[in-house]
Amino acid sequence: MAHKIAVIPGDGIGPEIVREARRVLDSADGKYGFELEYTQLLMGGASIDVHGVPLTDEAIAQAKASEAVLMGSIGGDAKTSPWYKLEPQLRPEAGLLKIRKELNLFANLRPAYLYDELRAACPLRDEVIGDGFDMMIMRELTGGLYFGARETVVENGVRKAVDTLVYNEEEIRRIAVKGFDIARKRRRKVCSVDKANVLDSSRLWRAVVEEVSRDYPDVELSHMLVDNCAMQLVKDPAQFDVILTENMFGDILSDEASMVTGSIGMLSSASLNETKFGLYEPSHGSAPDIAGKDIANPIATILSAAMMLRYSLDLDEAADAIEAAVSQVLREGYRTVDIMSEGCTRVGTAEMGTLIAARV
Ligand code: NAD
Repeated sequence: MAHKIAVIPGDGIGPEIVREARRVLDSADGKYGFELEYTQLLMGGASIDVHGVPLTDEAIAQAKASEAVLMGSIGGDAKTSPWYKLEPQLRPEAGLLKIRKELNLFANLRPAYLYDELRAACPLRDEVIGDGFDMMIMRELTGGLYFGARETVVENGVRKAVDTLVYNEEEIRRIAVKGFDIARKRRRKVCSVDKANVLDSSRLWRAVVEEVSRDYPDVELSHMLVDNCAMQLVKDPAQFDVILTENMFGDILSDEASMVTGSIGMLSSASLNETKFGLYEPSHGSAPDIAGKDIANPIATILSAAMMLRYSLDLDEAADAIEAAVSQVLREGYRTVDIMSEGCTRVGTAEMGTLIAARV
């Protein structure tokens, strides 16, 4: 039976990069004996232009009726686009926040993988890079400091601001379960990152992660304080497999980890809920400055599509094949402009997609 996939091309370079991801998925589905049935949805500026809102209830219902959502990116140039003259709740980004909330996407996955061919883009020294690194940052996305009560008051003429970091054990347990499940698809190591020497919320985090780990005797669990983790990411990134952490620590660490991989055009991501459902999208935005020029790098979206096969559809073999095809194309020296280096062959968005699809 065909897997139901909702596709959101979005704005800017979104339609170009999603088109290439679909080309690659289509080349995999014949070979690996699965079938995908796509429903195209509007979100962001594209939806505002047609419906006057960044995401309709009907689009949400269609996303919910799917097994996964594959997305490009949404948004325009905030200085020039008429979308940004609208009220905040009607702007493109409101669609993204709404879909994350409606689909209860509490687990954010950001892989940081260094392609040997792109070592030159890595800001770390060669001896630190060693044989490269391949880690997955799993960040809790709907709790913690960004969602706790906050206020700014004036007390005795002095301004005071309060933010609250709250987690209950259920929120921690469900993300920990996801983290251990993901580790089982990788090298079976989880490093849980917290600030348990100071924060109560971190002590609860650590205790619950320990409890969950008892159901995963085949997965090695370690704990690390967040300040140490920030250092270790640039000192010895190869030590990490899955990094499991709360919302704010994950926000910071995932950006740090992605920087050490080099180009923004290579970074995939996924947001998952309690079921196998996920929303898969590149980590970058809609890059309106290069939209329609056939120069955007489609690889982050293609790798997001591979994640979709692995984590929502359990089609690991096809996901491996897509990732291997990306490596092969890089090994053969093909580059979009953002990752171009001397001696390589420059290709556009469509050609990069075609080359990868042919090697799946
Ligand atoms: P951006 O990531 O779109 O672009 C930053 C820079 O990176 C630009 O110079 C762009 O040309 C380049 N770039 C990005 N993706 C690339 C790719 N695949 N290949 C080659 N170069 C690439 O960030 P921005 O300019 O700050 O934001 C543009 C719009 O995207 C805004 O409206 C923003 O709100 C939106 N945005 C959306 C998402 C999302 O949909 N999840 C995420 C971030 C930003």
